[in-house]
Amino acid sequence: MSRYHILDAQHTDPARIKRERDKARELRKTRWWLDQVNRGICHHCGGRFKASELTMDHLIPLARGGTSAKGNIVCACRPCNQSKKLETPVDAVFEQLERERNAGGSESEGEGER
Ligand SMILES: [Zn+2]
Repeated sequence: MSRYHILDAQHTDPARIKRERDKARELRKTRWWLDQVNRGICHHCGGRFKASELTMDHLIPLARGGTSAKGNIVCACRPCNQSKKLETPVDAVFEQLERERNAGGSESEGEGER
C-alpha cells in the first residue's frame, strides 16, 4: 500500500512550532548564522546578496515536521523566501488532491493494466 504525504498532527502542534521558532531565533544570534549570511549566497537561486538582504529559511517547513537544526536552515534572498511562502499553500492543496485521488480514484488507476 502506497503512503502519501499528509499533514501530521504532531507536526502542526503549535507548541512544537513555537519551540522550533524560538530555536531559530536563538540560532540567528550565533556565529554559525553570521558565517552563513556573511557568505552572502542564497541557497535557492545561488545569487550573491548583502547579509542584510538574506533571510533565514527552513528547508522543510516547521509545519511539515522540519526542525530548527542547522541542517534544515539555509539563507534565502527575499524574493526566494517569498516565492516559497506563496508556494506552500498550493503545495498543501496538491497534497489534498492527491489524497482524495488515492482515496477514490482506484478505478482509473487500473485502466492501463492487463
Ligand atoms: Zn534567492
